[in-house]
Amino acid sequence: MTDKRDYYEILGVARDAEKPELKKAYRKQAIKYHPDKNPDNKEAEDKFKDASEAYEVLSNDNKRQIYDQFGHQGLEGSGHSGPSGFEDIFSSFGDIFEDFFGFGGNQGGRRSRVQKGSDLRYNMSIDFMEAAFGTEKTISIPKMDICGECEGSGCRPGTSPETCSHCHGTGQFIQSQGFFKVKTSCPYCRGRGTMISNPCAKCRGAGRIEITRKVQVKIPAGVDVGSKLRLTGEGEGSPSPDGPPGDVYVVINVNPHKFFQRDNTDIICAIDISFIQAALGDEIIIPTLVGEEKFMIPKGTQFGDTFRLRGEGIASLRTGRRGDQIIKVIIKIPKKLSQKQKDLLKEFDRLDSNKISNKLKNLFKNL
Ligand SMILES: [Zn+2]
Ligand SMILES: [Zn+2]
Repeated sequence: MTDKRDYYEILGVARDAEKPELKKAYRKQAIKYHPDKNPDNKEAEDKFKDASEAYEVLSNDNKRQIYDQFGHQGLEGSGHSGPSGFEDIFSSFGDIFEDFFGFGGNQGGRRSRVQKGSDLRYNMSIDFMEAAFGTEKTISIPKMDICGECEGSGCRPGTSPETCSHCHGTGQFIQSQGFFKVKTSCPYCRGRGTMISNPCAKCRGAGRIEITRKVQVKIPAGVDVGSKLRLTGEGEGSPSPDGPPGDVYVVINVNPHKFFQRDNTDIICAIDISFIQAALGDEIIIPTLVGEEKFMIPKGTQFGDTFRLRGEGIASLRTGRRGDQIIKVIIKIPKKLSQKQKDLLKEFDRLDSNKISNKLKNLFKNL
């Protein structure tokens, strides 16, 4: 293992180089020797791997300290074995690659290392009229967020995490089991490589605390059952220090209305009229979303006939144009009649030439 080149030499930086300088040097090499640019070039591939390994170690304070003190051997003894392949390299340096190769995760399927916080779902029930005209609600979202006291470090302010003495900061143990070497997560620091001896009092060292955030939600006119509203950045804090928070998805449920039913942007209502109104026509008052409107029932209206009040429905979420109000006519047949009413109906029946019994009589006559 003595033939391994010095990490500082590989990157071409001084031993006291600061992090930005390391990053710059590494970028330069990574761009130059990137396998996409040097297909089937073993030498470039090796140089690329070397630079990646060097950067992985030197950009990590704990690993760099170990390397400075013990060299390559120190890292091997404590479980560091260098990136094992390109997958490792890309998962470790996704953030760097992303901003200079423009890898958004689709080029070669490489993922960014910066992890977004979790998205949250919030179920919200609103009234029919609130859905029709939009509303504003304040919701309380319980979520895990970065502890403000320690800014997520988990350490009491003024202190910092210490390198785990069991794994020398690598977070890993290598155990020999006969033939094999088995890599396990360090049980003392749970793979973090650091231990907190003075935990933050507020989050007890977790770095994250549960908070309840009140968020004002503007609900646009026209939402329906199952509509989703995204509240960008209102989700849980990212587990990585510079990662963006997740989003909150507000999923809408609309309570039913006692008079109106909804069909997309149309609203449907059922109106009872008497058979006299149906036969003779009549002006009636129809309740609408905003009040009421006069409506002329035409004479000869049949059971189940529908009429439309144009533009009296619900605004479309996309176009803002309002649908119609559909009036379904229910003709009521009286259950109780006075003797006079009965006599009049019998008289009407005698005069009714369209009666079904007459039609049947004529039909049989022609046979
Ligand atoms: Zn804290
Ligand atoms: Zn450890």
